[in-house]
Amino acid sequence: MDQIAYVNGSFVPMAEAKVSILDRGFLFADGIYEVAAVLDGKLIDNASHLARLQRSVEKELVARNNLVNGMVYLEVTRGADTGRDFAFPKGVKPTLIMFTSVKDIVNAPAAKTGIGVITVPDIRWARRDIKSVALLAQVLAKQAAAEAGAGEAWMIEDGMVTEGGSSSAFILTQDDVLVTRQNSSAILPGCTRKAVVALAEERQLRVEERPFTVEEALVAKEAFITSASLFVQAVVTIDGKTVANGKPGPMTDRLREIYIDFARATAL
Ligand code: PLP
Repeated sequence: MDQIAYVNGSFVPMAEAKVSILDRGFLFADGIYEVAAVLDGKLIDNASHLARLQRSVEKELVARNNLVNGMVYLEVTRGADTGRDFAFPKGVKPTLIMFTSVKDIVNAPAAKTGIGVITVPDIRWARRDIKSVALLAQVLAKQAAAEAGAGEAWMIEDGMVTEGGSSSAFILTQDDVLVTRQNSSAILPGCTRKAVVALAEERQLRVEERPFTVEEALVAKEAFITSASLFVQAVVTIDGKTVANGKPGPMTDRLREIYIDFARATAL
């Protein structure tokens, strides 16, 4: 069955889901987006995604696509004006599109083996806290990772890891402190990151929100990334060098289980 997309008020087959070439998302990357996971036909989430998403339309789209496990992608742009002017158009309706994709996140093979990451300079703009569709820097970073046989790229600024190309970065230090960079305009405030930090703190795990270096990650007990489309995913090599014994660590596996339980319990 053809996938069903949502475009500006209508549910349409994916092949017919189109926006204007004058759409500001296309011309200027003047748009934002959101991704939420679906488990057992229900939207996974926490209050942060809830606040950011148009849940009723998403649920309808999940139902129309008979989606059991996967993701909902949502994008809003400033709409299509009559020409190409940089300043905000007046009286133009925003474009809103959504589509779904199938993915068995819980049983992803990479969760068992772990993934490698490579490091690249963080060449993005200064407002990375906005989930903008201007993702060229991440396209280049993740292409470099794919060419190196790695699963993600960690971006480095001033000697510190900012985050993954499409994920938040964590390490567990030798003295069992979970470290992830604090939210600021340098990173996207990940919803999964937020939930994992809260779940870890509820279990009396020590969490430090601060930047860390690749050197620190290489001598850490464990490393992992989080995102709506991966949940908690072990990182076992960085630039080809192994982290600990090169296998997903017990804390990463535990946090993954805890997150999946939380996700199922809060799914709508
Ligand atoms: N950081 C970046 C740059 C991202 O693009 C993403 C997700 O796409 C994340 C972090 C993880 O955010 P979330 O957990 O809300 O999916």
